[in-house]
Amino acid sequence: MIAVVCVRDGALPAGAQETVDEAAGEVVLVGSGCLEASTGLAGVASRVRYYEAGDYAPGAWAVALAPALAEDDFLLLPASPDGRDLAPRLAAELDRPLLAGALSVTPPRVLLARQGGLVTDEVTVLGPVVATLLPGTRGLGTRHTIDLSPAQPLEVHRTPAVRDAESLAVLPPDPATMDLSEARRIVAGGAGLHGPAEFAVLARVAAALGASVGGTRVVADADWLPFERQIGTTGVAVDPDLYLAFGISGAVQHVSGLGDPDAVVSVNTDPSCPMMAMADLALVTDAGPLLIELARRLETSDTAGQAEERRSA
Ligand SMILES: Cc1cc2nc3c(=O)[nH]c(=O)nc-3n(C[C@H](O)[C@H](O)[C@H](O)COP(=O)(O)OP(=O)(O)OC[C@H]3O[C@@H](n4cnc5c(N)ncnc54)[C@H](O)[C@@H]3O)c2cc1C
Repeated sequence: MIAVVCVRDGALPAGAQETVDEAAGEVVLVGSGCLEASTGLAGVASRVRYYEAGDYAPGAWAVALAPALAEDDFLLLPASPDGRDLAPRLAAELDRPLLAGALSVTPPRVLLARQGGLVTDEVTVLGPVVATLLPGTRGLGTRHTIDLSPAQPLEVHRTPAVRDAESLAVLPPDPATMDLSEARRIVAGGAGLHGPAEFAVLARVAAALGASVGGTRVVADADWLPFERQIGTTGVAVDPDLYLAFGISGAVQHVSGLGDPDAVVSVNTDPSCPMMAMADLALVTDAGPLLIELARRLETSDTAGQAEERRSA
């Protein structure tokens, strides 16, 4: 099995490390700034091949990569936006089935998440396949030293027969609407917020901090938050740098989807709940009034320019 990871300007996509670890450290990097990106795989990658292929062009890359990957029976890509784009093209080019949204891959057995994670399907693989691995569903275990091959030449031809979109500009994502699994900052609410009105204030605080809004299953079930904003085993797996939890108890089904945030802040009236225990900063107080005060201070003390600066920081 070998991981195939798209790289843009030296940056790895979400789930790259987990995918490489699942593939026991073997990886092919393709894109721009691969050498720089390979440093982000320290510890998980053991053998790295890379192809400098310029701007993202999944159609042309699939055509160019297929001969180099034809000998590898099992290709595993992170189910990041770019990985989900390249994987079906590679599968078509190599004439193999695609197994999308795997939770674990231990050939010949592949476990797939279906119906938004409510059902898991076990598939036995009988021949060469291409699969994608959902980010945030496995930890990192292996420690390797990297054996980095020199850059490989890759002839990428953009022909009319290969349909790739032309990128005119790359806009920064809007935290309010971006895929939660990609969010670097998340402000989340649970049942300790007492209704949609408090969630509206939570959204104002998140907007002022340049963060995305998430929540627990309890509040998604109550319709205070769309389902795609639910974090956890039956929701979205996230891996932010900063996680702010307002009125969240920290049930295992919630925190198992949290990844490994650099900093966790928890606001709760119960000082001994699991979310407070895992917080770097734990505030024992009523979350509703605190949110109102935070929104007031962040919105009034801020010029639009300062808010913008924080968002892009
Ligand atoms: C099969 C299965 C799958 C599940 N999947 C998920 C999942 O994907 N994601 C998920 O989140 N859950 C999931 N759950 C539900 C999970 O078990 C918990 O019930 C849920 O996470 C709890 O949500 P909560 O923290 O919002 O609510 P609660 O557990 O009710 O906690 C509310 C918290 O708010 C605090 N609080 C109360 N009033 C205030 C106040 N005024 N100010 C501050 N704090 C206050 C309380 O002290 C408490 O800690 C799943 C459950 C099952 C059985």
